[in-house]
Amino acid sequence: MRVLYVCTELFPLLKTGGLGDVSGALPPALRDAGCDVRVLVPGFPAIRSGVLPSKLQQAPAISLPTRYGPDLAGRGVTQPPVLQQASLPGSGLATYVLDVPALFNRPGNPYYDSHGDNGVRFALVGWAAACLGQGLDAQWQPDVVHCNDWHTGLAPLYLRQMAMPGPPRAASVFTIHNLAYQGIFPRSLFPELGLPDYLFTIGGIEFWGQVSFMKAGLQAADRITTVSPTYAREILEVEQGCGLDGLLRGRSSMVSGILNGVDYRVWSPSHDEVLAHPYDAESVELKAQAKAELQRKLKLQARPNAMVFGVVSRLTEQKGLNLVEAMADELVQMGGQLVVLGTGDAPLEHAFVRAAARHPGQIAVDIGYDEALAHAIMAGCDVILVPSRFEPCGLTQLYGLRYGALPLVHRVGGLADTVVDATPDNLNAGRATGFVFDEFSAPALRGALKRAFELHAQPAAWAKLQKTAMQQRFDWREAAIQYVALYRSMKPEAA
Ligand code: ADP
Repeated sequence: MRVLYVCTELFPLLKTGGLGDVSGALPPALRDAGCDVRVLVPGFPAIRSGVLPSKLQQAPAISLPTRYGPDLAGRGVTQPPVLQQASLPGSGLATYVLDVPALFNRPGNPYYDSHGDNGVRFALVGWAAACLGQGLDAQWQPDVVHCNDWHTGLAPLYLRQMAMPGPPRAASVFTIHNLAYQGIFPRSLFPELGLPDYLFTIGGIEFWGQVSFMKAGLQAADRITTVSPTYAREILEVEQGCGLDGLLRGRSSMVSGILNGVDYRVWSPSHDEVLAHPYDAESVELKAQAKAELQRKLKLQARPNAMVFGVVSRLTEQKGLNLVEAMADELVQMGGQLVVLGTGDAPLEHAFVRAAARHPGQIAVDIGYDEALAHAIMAGCDVILVPSRFEPCGLTQLYGLRYGALPLVHRVGGLADTVVDATPDNLNAGRATGFVFDEFSAPALRGALKRAFELHAQPAAWAKLQKTAMQQRFDWREAAIQYVALYRSMKPEAA
């Protein structure tokens, strides 16, 4: 089974969130599951410097046909777009880098539309994927093109539309990592996409008078997946369907949820380079050292018994952290400490900074992006807070489980699928792994916090909960097996 995995970020080279983690881990897991996997990624600076030095000498650059596809005229593209062939550092996976410096070789966030040309440049990503799916590389044609989020949404559509002579086209899978980000562009973009006019309709990619890349992927992909079974159900309803629930309901037999995994090579306290004192489920008492180090590092009072709550997150409406901010004073009054690492919406950033100023030594806030600190927080905190309003899968609660930082989460999406609430029944049965609240409200969060404090005051019960949490496994191997089954359902003839 030959699989082209199309993504726009790739840990450890380029990451803005969970998609980077997934793209770094799933392709190698698919290879381990027996697939012949290649990756397609745009040549952003971090990708160019990380991947291009390993250009495959035997594999020349492949020119993209530009007679059809997105119109690059007036976009400063002086050289024909090419796919450089290289191998990924670490995994060694063969990789096509979409090398168009005028469009991608720009510093900063890969999705930031500094030149007002995001529509065209991400259309080109879709076009490149579709061309490969149609056999552009004479040496390797994928059976399946696996696309991720709106940035790649045009790939399934171009694949359907193209009529290149040659072998049959690849099948397509479109994975939704977050339905709320849709890649919406003005109507004026449409003529530049090289698509027939009839596609600018409600049955095509028109969305309230604009162009939607997400809709393109959902309309045209042979299969749609999302990153947890619960989110796969939630997006079929109005509340979480982001205006696309009708379309998704119409295609519901093609929609499924496959839970993300954890790259335990990166996220394990037993071999985490950030930790001076590694630990595992059998030596969880060493976690106290990580806590002391975190308190020292972030200038929190050195209180071994204080319950430390951690947040590692984008600070956006989705993540529900306004509830945490609203509870910050109370949390300190209850004897807790709070550590927040994140960037995002300015009002929320400021509110957390003010909370830290009100409670020096008890609340520490780092507005920024810091991979090492994210690991130190997982290791040093007792509870990781993930009260998201909605959450397709969520990875930080899974990292929390592994590090014995018990997740406290809103029962939604992937959070509902991965955390078992510490109810008396679940505690007795030895299956509890964290704290779950149902209603998205400050009182409901308060209730869960109180339960966490009560249990923390019982060291033996807490230790048992931690042990159960740390023993959970969300292996990419499992997810890869499910993806392969999905690929096979479309391409039974592929080896
Ligand atoms: P999302 O993709 O919606 O942002 P996920 O929970 O799926 O949320 O993934 C978030 C990823 O980004 C995790 O690996 C988390 O550790 C990381 N992350 C988020 N914010 C920061 C930050 N400020 N510094 C370091 N890592 C962060």
